[in-house]
Amino acid sequence: MKNSKRQKPDFSKLALETIAVRAGTRRTAEFQEHSEAMFLTSSFCFDSAELAEDGFAHADQGFIYSRFTNPTVSMFQDRLAALEGGEACIATASGMAAILTTAMAHLQAGDHVICSRSVFGATIQLFSSILGRFGITTTYVDLTDLKAWQAAVQANTRLFYLETPSNPLTEIADIKAISKIAKKANALLAVDNCFCTPALQKPLALGADVVIHSATKYLDGQGRVVGGAIVGSKEFVTGKVFPFVRTAGPTLSAFNAWVFLKGLETLELRMKQQSQNALQLAQWLEKQSGVERVYHPGLKSHPQHALAKRQQKAGGAILSFTLKGGKRAAFRLINQTKLCSITANLGDTRTTITHPASTTHCRVSPEARKAAGISDGLVRIAVGLENVTDLINDLRGGFKSR
Ligand SMILES: *Cc1c(COP(=O)(O)O)cnc(C)c1O
Repeated sequence: MKNSKRQKPDFSKLALETIAVRAGTRRTAEFQEHSEAMFLTSSFCFDSAELAEDGFAHADQGFIYSRFTNPTVSMFQDRLAALEGGEACIATASGMAAILTTAMAHLQAGDHVICSRSVFGATIQLFSSILGRFGITTTYVDLTDLKAWQAAVQANTRLFYLETPSNPLTEIADIKAISKIAKKANALLAVDNCFCTPALQKPLALGADVVIHSATKYLDGQGRVVGGAIVGSKEFVTGKVFPFVRTAGPTLSAFNAWVFLKGLETLELRMKQQSQNALQLAQWLEKQSGVERVYHPGLKSHPQHALAKRQQKAGGAILSFTLKGGKRAAFRLINQTKLCSITANLGDTRTTITHPASTTHCRVSPEARKAAGISDGLVRIAVGLENVTDLINDLRGGFKSR
């Protein structure tokens, strides 16, 4: 064991790029493997009955059973916690499982939630249709309207929930300002950091209590596996989230955790490049005569450009735009592309193009869609790592008059 005295770096003092490739890594004493190992085992052995007794008494520290502790999953959790600047992280089977787990760990019947109106569709279904059946009520507010957040507070409000930037119109929440309202209300502020990831935005440093991830998106970054995560204080994550996951089992698999560990290593590079590609594409789209309006936080024309610049390192890789010709023009543009993938998924190295009104938001009533600004001429692009000129050329045909 000649290396056992080697000191470990203090990751809290190191930069994001360094944390992304090195934090959380643990090696087995016997093999000293360089790359993180994939521990495909459901349970772990003890050398004696006494050690098993001790292991079960400290279930959050050692490794017992992979429903609640697995070394590969732990490495992913530790790395993501370090990236977000949180004390602890618990990974879950999906992004939705992370949101459900947060709610189950924190709420009880009779509690009230304030949620941004422009969150992921399944999140609204979860709060209204599922948690609603268990006596939890939810009020939906305009993400950008601070007065509306304040006005929605009730004596039983225990959770504020939002995503920023929003999907697909890239509206920005003022995390710092909303965190102050939440604190005064004695409620927890949970921020879904899926669109920015810690590479571009650190909600905890801005006052959020909990960060939620759909790791399925940019943390993997290559469209391979489904997973989620919850980051926050030790008190909340280890004290409340861990016991729920241990008992209820919405657990991330070791294989998926390993894929996410590899994804995190390139997170910073991807987010930087994909954001830059998105901004260039957005600027080009603004010049096309068939385009009515382009939405991207990096554009000077974005109504919250200044807030986005303060809060995010870059605008992110998602953009949307409205076409003057409505649904017909949107479908024509999408159908003439050869390169972009026609899929509602996002967070991939490959650019995806989608028509929100007929796909991601098809379950929303036409009136509610209109109120939310999701018009029939709206197209969303999640920009990947392709060359921007190739992407522009792929879209160009959709703007040529026939
Ligand atoms: C995809 C997504 C989710 C849900 O994540 P899954 O991994 O699909 O369960 C939650 N929030 C946002 C912002 C998402 O894009």
